[in-house]
Amino acid sequence: MQPTPFTPATIVVPAAGRRQAAVDTRAIQQIDSAHYLHPFTDFKSLNAQGARVIVKGDGIYIWDSEGKRLIDGMSGLWCVNAGYGRASIADAVHAQMQELPFYNSFFQTTNAPAAQLAAKLAAISPPQFKHVFFTCSGSEGNDTNVRMVRRYWDLQGCPERHVIISRKNAYHGSTMAGASLSGMSYMHEQGGLPIPGIVHIDQPYYLENGKGMTPDEFGVKAASWLETKILEVGADKVAAFIGEPIQGAGGVIIPPATYWPEIQRICDKYGILLIADEVICGFGRLGHWFGSEYFGIKPDLMTFAKGVTSGYVPLGGVLVGDKVADVLIEKGGDFNHGFTYSGHPVACAAALENLRILESEKLVDKVREDTGPYLKQVFEKLIEHPLVGMAETIGFTAGLVLVKKKANNVHDCEFFPSELDVGMVCRGHMFGNGMIMRAVGNRMIIAPPLVMTRAQIDEMVALIKYCLDATLKDLQTRGWM
Ligand SMILES: *Cc1c(COP(=O)(O)O)cnc(C)c1O
Repeated sequence: MQPTPFTPATIVVPAAGRRQAAVDTRAIQQIDSAHYLHPFTDFKSLNAQGARVIVKGDGIYIWDSEGKRLIDGMSGLWCVNAGYGRASIADAVHAQMQELPFYNSFFQTTNAPAAQLAAKLAAISPPQFKHVFFTCSGSEGNDTNVRMVRRYWDLQGCPERHVIISRKNAYHGSTMAGASLSGMSYMHEQGGLPIPGIVHIDQPYYLENGKGMTPDEFGVKAASWLETKILEVGADKVAAFIGEPIQGAGGVIIPPATYWPEIQRICDKYGILLIADEVICGFGRLGHWFGSEYFGIKPDLMTFAKGVTSGYVPLGGVLVGDKVADVLIEKGGDFNHGFTYSGHPVACAAALENLRILESEKLVDKVREDTGPYLKQVFEKLIEHPLVGMAETIGFTAGLVLVKKKANNVHDCEFFPSELDVGMVCRGHMFGNGMIMRAVGNRMIIAPPLVMTRAQIDEMVALIKYCLDATLKDLQTRGWM
């Protein structure tokens, strides 16, 4: 039987359930333009068009102030793992606010949610992790990593070991250290970055750097760049290597299977600490609690944020492995670092309830055994589309590459010139038709809420295909193809 051709009109809008506040779109856009400087935004061009006002979320869907429903293919910003509309998280937050809205952890005091969350994170993470340092964001988590690994090497009597190696096109946040660890040149151009002692190697992106090699050969090659850099800097000067198991903001860059084991071997060989930035991969994105488990690596530190609260309340931190924690605790004395809101009781209460949901609904297992493999099966079929030169998924995140002319081998595809922003054109069609899919150059990426069902995956991929058709037509009309 031929399936019915898909059009966005076939979307059935579920009953809203909860009250939707009436919002005057124009009025909000006006004060937004007049007063709100948005992150990572060209202020002037946003003001010229006005921001889309998002007013409501439920499950995998969000609504704008004009009543338009969108599939949130990006989980907000890689964080709403448990989906929108979780009343139990709201209740946990409400109850905590009434009992104790805030107290600090600086002066030999603690609060129950922070202590309980630290214990919970220790329980769900690999065995080398028994300690947690709380921050309010992933960026602050990575700033903490920089200070912590340097402090560790000072305490070990190696004060010259201060260099941290990261990767080009990595994303580790936007504070001074976070942006320095990040490997985006457009970030480094502003504000005098990177700060001293942070250097970068090339990313393990097969499409960009792997021509003439099999993916496995390329994985080993890309890892060898770490060793080359260590020898260039001097092994006795390198404190740590940091990497996202999967580069998220860089465009869902999935390294070949040979990459991470080789990185681990090189870190071990030179006694360099391994930091896994799990801000996106943590809390089920790859079908495990942490992405490091997917790749079988054993990091010394893990940054977390985003999915720990499903974004309901800001929270981040660092899971500190025994190797580092033992030294900081036994020899360290005061660690002169922390935030007013480290271990904020309300954020920790939200996280505890969020983790309870992920566990009780077996969302991590589902992604690993059921919906993740199903997404792979359905999404990777998009390779049949004339605009798609590569389509790949891992767990519950996926990316495809828009090409001008396809070839059997992705390296032989003809790409659009970079001055034609095909990704933004495609993103426009996605948005316009009710699908949030992010553009990173010529890569279109998704990371849906982990609650997405098989039927919703079908609905989403049909909508993506419809929007790719619209993009193709548009590009032809523009004379770009
Ligand atoms: C989002 C992100 C960060 C930064 O987190 P913020 O909470 O925005 O500061 C750091 N690392 C990775 C991998 C991220 O995706």
